[in-house]
Order: sequence, then structure tokens, then C-alpha cells
Amino acid sequence: MSADTDELVVIGGGIGGLTTGLAAVRSGRRVRVLERSAQFGEVGAGIQLAPNATRILQELGLLDEIREVGVLPRRIVLGDAMRGGELGALDLTDFVERYGAPYIVMHRSDLLDILLRACQRAGVALETGADVTSLMDDGAGVDVMCTDGRTFRGTAAVAADGLHSRTRALFSDDEAIGSGYVAYRGAVPMDQVSRHADLRDVVAWVGPGLHLVQYPLRSGRFYNQVAVFRSQAFARGEPDWGNPAEMDERFAQCCEHVRESTPLLGRDNRWPMYDRAPIPTWVKGRIGLLGDAAHPMLQYLAQGACQAIEDAWTLGAALRRHEGATGDGVEAALLAYQAVRVPRTARVQHTARTWGEIWHVDGVGRLLRDEVLRRRAADDHAHVEWLYGRGTDGADAVLSA
Ligand SMILES: Cc1cc2nc3c(=O)[nH]c(=O)nc-3n(C[C@H](O)[C@H](O)[C@H](O)COP(=O)(O)OP(=O)(O)OC[C@H]3O[C@@H](n4cnc5c(N)ncnc54)[C@H](O)[C@@H]3O)c2cc1C
Repeated sequence: MSADTDELVVIGGGIGGLTTGLAAVRSGRRVRVLERSAQFGEVGAGIQLAPNATRILQELGLLDEIREVGVLPRRIVLGDAMRGGELGALDLTDFVERYGAPYIVMHRSDLLDILLRACQRAGVALETGADVTSLMDDGAGVDVMCTDGRTFRGTAAVAADGLHSRTRALFSDDEAIGSGYVAYRGAVPMDQVSRHADLRDVVAWVGPGLHLVQYPLRSGRFYNQVAVFRSQAFARGEPDWGNPAEMDERFAQCCEHVRESTPLLGRDNRWPMYDRAPIPTWVKGRIGLLGDAAHPMLQYLAQGACQAIEDAWTLGAALRRHEGATGDGVEAALLAYQAVRVPRTARVQHTARTWGEIWHVDGVGRLLRDEVLRRRAADDHAHVEWLYGRGTDGADAVLSA
């Protein structure tokens, strides 16, 4: 058993957990991250990082490394998946001046490697094969128990154990909500790609009940694709819903570019799309939730990991604000973190659902959407200010409280 009661124990070594390790260690605390897998790792696909997250990664001293392996796209484009052509775009080129950091797309495993190396440099203790089964808060600290019999004691425990978090059961008996949509994704070497969109853009081809996202990775040497569709078989209650044959059938109706892009997608893994409704409480005593464990969302805003990074940063700020305190201080820090993060992430969860509906709409709604998109200028950023703007993560609020 680890007897270090001044240590923060983080459960889960994904993007949320590792960023929390880094942000918390800056508050002068010792931190230990427990990951159940045999090694830290991410799926072989891309990730979009908006400036609300890259600003934080810059503060953590990681942006240069990230820029080296990432791509800075010029625009986010919405394309018409059925007829082809552009519906609208958002210009990203002035994001450093506008929001203090760039929009970056990168390989997930590159991001995880960078976070992992930074944790090692910062002295975050890292445990693999640590599958946490239960936690006990005795008022003076938290015992975190693993399936292999190991127990780690910390001054507090933060669970960043993902969509199917076990720790969430301490806060809610809710179930993950299946949307009936499924994703196929993967990054492939560019020389295997016969047809690609403009490599300077992130392109989302949207159509009724489906979409395809495409962007380059690793200086354009790889191409990332995510195809998502609403499964009719799910609606019919069939167990084998959302299989590759159903994907091929759905995408067969799309424009030539989209049709010819989907055969490249990996077919071995599928990701059914889930979220949960926001909950008001993520903190009890010395135990807290973070990232997807706290606020899993549909991926349409590309914000799940960005919000986990914001959580980590805000929690780090709250721990700094209550620096040195191991008793009530750590509980106050967790409560301050919760107070600013719950409303912010609830808004992002709700907006992600709405954004998905806008992407997948048909009929009159689709006509209206297309008209609105056509009229909106690419340099009109009004609808993303609340999401990407400075000071929106809540860290300033906890530091000045
Ligand atoms: C198709 C798709 C595309 C997406 N695109 C984007 C995007 O472009 N940008 C973006 O910001 N977000 C995106 N997201 C969302 C993003 O992937 C998630 O929000 C993010 O990975 C959540 O990070 P996390 O660390 O909270 O959880 P996870 O990544 O799920 O990590 C949880 C970790 O905890 C570990 N764990 C679980 N249980 C235990 C246990 N009992 N004990 C110990 N360890 C445990 C797991 O092994 C895992 O390593 C996308 C999601 C999908 C599905």
C-alpha cells in the first residue's frame, strides 16, 4: 500500500487523466496516475484540438512538441455529403491572434506520448495494470483499491476513467445513452489514399443521418477519416447493428468523393456513439470525476478531450489556490473546480447534441441549414467565441475566488 496521504490519485491514464497529472503536479502536489491497461495508449486515429485546449497545452509547455507532429489547418469546411461542394467554412488562420493558440489536428497516440513523457519529466508516478474497483473516503484521505490487491492512499482521488466510469456510480445511477449512430475511424498513410479533400482543411461532409470527417495528420503523411451514420438496424432492435455492410449501404447514396473515401476506413472496430445527460454533482468529499467520466458528450463539436483538458487545468488552478492544504483545502479545491466546470460542460454536452442534429437534418431543416451556412462568412466567429474564447474554462474564476 502507498502510505503517502499527501498524494493526489488519478484513476485513468487517458488524455484527461494524464493532463490532470501534469496540471496537478504544478500545484506542488505529488500525483499518481493509475491506468488499468498494460500500457498507456490511444486508438490509431486523429484528434482535433481547438484553441481552448491548445492554450492550456501551451501553458503546460507542450505546444512546440505538439506543433512539430500536428497539422495547423486553414479552415473547417462543411461539405454536402450528398451533392458534393462546400456549404460553409470557418477560417482558422488567425486563431493565435484571436484566441491565443492555434487549432491543431494530430494523431491521438502522438498526443498521449507527449503527455506521458511530460508526466515522466514532471515526476508524476505512473502505474499500469492498475484496474481500480472501489474507493473509500474516510474523511482524512481516500483508499483506492485495485483488482490485483494493490491499494493506493491519497489525500484525494479524481476519476478520469472514461465513458463507462465505475466511479460515476458514486454520483449517479444513469446509463450511457446510445444515440443509434456508430463511427468507423482510422488514420492511414497518405500513399494509400486515392482521393482526398484539400489537405489544408478539416472537412466534414454532412448529409441526412450521416457524415464523414477528413483531415491530414503528421505533416500530411497520414490521412484521418471518421465516418458516422445512424443505423436503421439499431432502430429495428437488431443486435448486429451498425456493421460495415450497413455503412457501405448508407454511404452508397453519397457524392462520388465521399463514396470513394469510405472503403479506406478500418472495419474491425466500430464505435457506437454514446453520451449521458449532464449531472450537477461530480464531487463528494475527497472524490471527484473528470473528463468523459463526468461529462461524456457526442463528438460533433470535437470537444470531449478539449473539455477534459479544460477540467484538468481548472482543477490544477483550484489546487494551486488552496496550495498546501491537505484537509478541508483539497475538498474546497474540488468544490471550486466543480462549481465552474459543471455549467460549462453541460452547455458543451447540450450543444454537441444540437450540432449533431444540424449536421444530420433532412427536409426543410436541411434547406434552411444550407441557406444559413451559405450566408455566414468564414471570418464570422460569433458562434464559437463562447467555446474557444480566452477565460472560458473557469480557471481564472477559481484563481480569483
Ligand atoms: C469518433 C470520436 C471522435 C472524437 N473526436 C474528438 C476530437 O476531435 N476532439 C476532442 O476533443 N474529442 C474528441 N472525441 C472525444 C474524446 O475522444 C474523449 O472525450 C476523450 O478521449 C476523453 O478522455 P478521458 O481521459 O476523459 O477518457 P478516456 O479516453 O476514455 O480514458 C479513460 C482511461 O481510463 C482507463 N480506465 C477505465 N477504467 C479504469 C479503471 N477502473 N481503473 C483504471 N483505469 C481505468 C481507460 O483504460 C482509459 O485509459 C471523440 C470521440 C469519438 C468517439
